[in-house]
Amino acid sequence: MRHLLDLTKEELAAWLAGRGEPGYRTQQVARWALQRGVTTFEAMTDLPAGLRTALAAEFTLAALPVLATRVADDGDTTKVLLDLGGGGQAVEAVRMSYDPDEDGVPDRTTVCVSTQVGCAMGCAFCATGQQGFTRNLHPSEILAQVLHFTRDRRVTNVVFMGMGEPLANYAATLRAVRWMVDPDGLDMRQRGITISTVGIVSGIRRLAAEGLQVGLTVSLHAPDDELRRRLIPTAGGVTIEELVEAARSYVEASGRRVTFAYALLEHVNDEPEQARRLAQRLRGLQAHVNLIPYNPTAGAGLRRPSRERVRAFQRELQAAGINATVRVERGQEIAAACGQLRTDVALAAARNDEAASQAAPVEWRG
Ligand code: SAH
Ligand code: SF4
Repeated sequence: MRHLLDLTKEELAAWLAGRGEPGYRTQQVARWALQRGVTTFEAMTDLPAGLRTALAAEFTLAALPVLATRVADDGDTTKVLLDLGGGGQAVEAVRMSYDPDEDGVPDRTTVCVSTQVGCAMGCAFCATGQQGFTRNLHPSEILAQVLHFTRDRRVTNVVFMGMGEPLANYAATLRAVRWMVDPDGLDMRQRGITISTVGIVSGIRRLAAEGLQVGLTVSLHAPDDELRRRLIPTAGGVTIEELVEAARSYVEASGRRVTFAYALLEHVNDEPEQARRLAQRLRGLQAHVNLIPYNPTAGAGLRRPSRERVRAFQRELQAAGINATVRVERGQEIAAACGQLRTDVALAAARNDEAASQAAPVEWRG
């Protein structure tokens, strides 16, 4: 059955109009589904009973069942693994709360969402990339990750930095974003949403034409194309120059500064000389570099640089006039790196399978 939140607002309005409902029903239904986060049409108590029955006959509003939850940082970081059904498919989302005043009321609560099960880009340092690609998420499945948390507490920011490449699942990502910023949807500030991309140029240009003011992060990771292609095997034909040009068009269209993400890998891309070359490539652009010290993920054979090396790289960029920050590390002990909880669970499942296959007779061998 189709999930109601896979529809755009226009599609929902058209469906309701087709039943002869007044225009304000769209707003009513959207507010119940997104602002109150109800999971049944029965709960929409100010709708006529006949309409609730008709909606329930055609759509579902079910939440995604929780498979695992891990909490760290005294409850300020929560990671959840949600069940997508379909033979053990799952997706993760993380909530991070920031309370600079320490008055107990978080000023900023960010949810990190996934857009795919796995990822086809195969980045060398990324746990999700090493798992390969399974499927795209539907808009309702992206929204479900935010709704899981908004039912509990206000969410001010959403970052598309979980599993998957958002611009490789463009249509679903945009449908989810539109509901997030709709006043009758999650009613979030456009500036509170950030899409992170491995660098799909056509997707960046398409996004620039949407007339949105959402933030854009481009994952760069290298100052030259040769190294970038080694770290991101599917970067293929895209050059850093083309990426910088696409970022520039996004700055012009949205009025927003673009962030470049740079995962720091010891003795691979963290030399001061590489920082200087990176700075040169970004000169003249309204850019910001976000340095992410590598979060060691199983099997990658890469190392995280020391704090001193991270600082030195940052200083080198700043000296060249490039704004650079080091990503605040959250939830280390729950492995908040992209894709890692999923990997833990996948590994546990694989171990169980192995145990099971050893116990079972292997019939096809005769
Ligand atoms: N596919 C998108 C968004 C998801 S990844 C993208 O690549 O941008 C979100 C960010 O986490 C990216 O910048 C990615 O490079 C970074 N990342 C992934 N695995 C990492 C790891 N093990 N250590 C540090 N950063 C990592
Ligand atoms: Fe995919 Fe992003 Fe991970 Fe690369 S870093 S494999 S693009 S999720």
